[in-house]
Amino acid sequence: MIKRDRAERGVGAPRASELAGVQGPPAINRRQFLKVSTIGGVAASALGFDLGPALAAVRTLKIARTTETRSTCPYCSVSCGVIIHTLGDRSRNVKPSVVHVEGDPDHPINQGTLCPKGITLKHNIVNDLRLTKVRYRAPGAREWQDKSWDWAIDRIARLVKQTRDAHLIEKDHQGRALHALTAMGVIGGCTDTNEVNYLLVKAFRAGLGVIPIEQQARI
Ligand code: SF4
Repeated sequence: MIKRDRAERGVGAPRASELAGVQGPPAINRRQFLKVSTIGGVAASALGFDLGPALAAVRTLKIARTTETRSTCPYCSVSCGVIIHTLGDRSRNVKPSVVHVEGDPDHPINQGTLCPKGITLKHNIVNDLRLTKVRYRAPGAREWQDKSWDWAIDRIARLVKQTRDAHLIEKDHQGRALHALTAMGVIGGCTDTNEVNYLLVKAFRAGLGVIPIEQQARI
């Protein structure tokens, strides 16, 4: 009954929790599989088999001691399910670090798969190359300069005001109030929350009249 229901929904194999009470071999998760594999390997070794390379691979498997957190890929509106593996024993003085991100095999949308963009999600979370300061290249210049955040915010505010003063369309051809600005646009990031997107629309469309507003997850 459970298998038929999930097949009708196109969801694939039933979850372990749904199989409780159903006859058949016990379902195990990946963490249990690793433990069973290690114990089995020790037993096989006692019988004379050389399982050294295999055991070394299990020991070095980077997700063996991680905490799994289920989340959603933010890169596009498909919204694939992901599992984020974090290393760290939750001690106060230990900073947890994300070591791996993979597709969630239990997720009904992607069933464990991720596209080439989603599979790089770890680098959105942990990335030594991320810019942490303002970099500016003047028009026509070849060199980049380091600038302060105050400098950048002042410059952006000045350019936004200049553009709005020059291009705001206050009335349409029949004299009706329009309050529209199409000479500039706003693009939000793919990881922006609902609250950030609400503020973008509130500030730029309702406040300044900007019409082209988009956010990266739709592009
Ligand atoms: S970017 Fe790829 S992995 Fe992420 S939600 Fe879209 S299709 Fe899924």
